[in-house]
Amino acid sequence: MTSNPKADMDLQHVRALVISCLDNAGVSRVKVLPGPKVEGAFTNGCGVSVSVGVLLAADDHVTRSSQIDPIVGDLRGMPDRSAVAVVDKASGLAWAPADLVDLHGVPYPTCPRTALKRVAAEWAAAGLEASVGFELEFTVFSGSPEAPVLAHGGPGYGAAAFLQLEAWNLEVLTALVDAGVPVEQIHPEYGQGQIEIALAARNPVQAVDDYLLARFIVSRVSRRHGLQVSYSPIADSRTATNGCHIHFSARNTDGNLFSDAAAATRMGPAGGSMIAGVLGKLAESVALLGGSALSLARLRPQQWAGSFICWGTGNREAAIRFVPGLKGYEDQQSNVEVKCCDGSANQYLAVAAILAAALDGFKRQLKLPAEVTVDPGTLNEAERERLDIRAFAPDMFTALDDLEGSSLLRTALGHELLEAYVAVRRGEAERFAKLDRDAVIDALRWRY
Ligand code: GLU
Ligand code: MG
Repeated sequence: MTSNPKADMDLQHVRALVISCLDNAGVSRVKVLPGPKVEGAFTNGCGVSVSVGVLLAADDHVTRSSQIDPIVGDLRGMPDRSAVAVVDKASGLAWAPADLVDLHGVPYPTCPRTALKRVAAEWAAAGLEASVGFELEFTVFSGSPEAPVLAHGGPGYGAAAFLQLEAWNLEVLTALVDAGVPVEQIHPEYGQGQIEIALAARNPVQAVDDYLLARFIVSRVSRRHGLQVSYSPIADSRTATNGCHIHFSARNTDGNLFSDAAAATRMGPAGGSMIAGVLGKLAESVALLGGSALSLARLRPQQWAGSFICWGTGNREAAIRFVPGLKGYEDQQSNVEVKCCDGSANQYLAVAAILAAALDGFKRQLKLPAEVTVDPGTLNEAERERLDIRAFAPDMFTALDDLEGSSLLRTALGHELLEAYVAVRRGEAERFAKLDRDAVIDALRWRY
């Protein structure tokens, strides 16, 4: 028996193990092993080509980076035994996230899960513990992949929207709970066909593993109901955009750095330094927080997507929203939400970027800039300039240049990973720039 509570089934009853690697395009690539191969997979992994692990783009184009040749060489995907989950006990279907290693078993420099482990270890070395939680927004469709129909007609957050998909909602919740995903809630979102699932905060790597597993389960349950799900930032131009907001908090031996009832900002100075760190690096991180050809188009004002580089307490139009906890629960609940993130990201890298920037701000004791207490989209340019509210890059090429020039992120992720990521995303940006917006939406709808 495994000691992992998510896999409350003897692994010898597993009939198929889905081994999942999230790649630089934000696509979950899988290898599926039969029952007799499962036990061995935890020691010798499964075969993964360099291109599948590192250099495939969302349109399956095989990219090249300055340092890595996708044609020559092999990797192993090493499933993490402590993260195995039973997706369906009756049919014997299990799932596990994997690390990428070379043929000597050494972590491969472009492994995103390993990169996040490294950043989490830097937090630990600084006496800090990070908690990370995801909000997954996605669009549910009926009809066919070629002629998709929005699966509920709203109203936003409405009971009627829930009832239109009641059986699906219940099965999604049950399947998530049964697989050990710490689901907090599900609700119809603002847009037609749109749903949101919130996951409880936990350690960074586990949080991303759970996010990936949740996506897999939601897609699987949906197919059984004749529905299909899109996690694309713009799944359909007729409805609201899909974010994937990332929440984080930090603790040391004194408690939550984002909770200080006596402070005017309601957070401690170290928490303020972390927000300042993330804010200062947001322009160079945004290509990691959602690197698809649609990600920047999602960051429009008045969509609650966080389209301005600023922070504010409870401010849904700021890219960074400080979320103080309920009175009496401030230490458990207070956290920071980064809103300019979406489901096309590699979330191991997105979280690594946020946590690396927060730690940098903490170490440098950066001063928290003034918060923005209004919708920045209602201010004119001169007012925004006075308040140092900045816009994101006008296009993904610029955002990728900013990422490439980031010494913080280059150090945090390593040269090979940064170069491979930029190569994949630049290739996507170039190819999709030749299509009109609707064609890009169609091309990316079912990829994530
Ligand atoms: N759908 C919005 C987005 O694209 C977010 C709405 C919300 O605040 O939940 O990020
Ligand atoms: Mg939402």
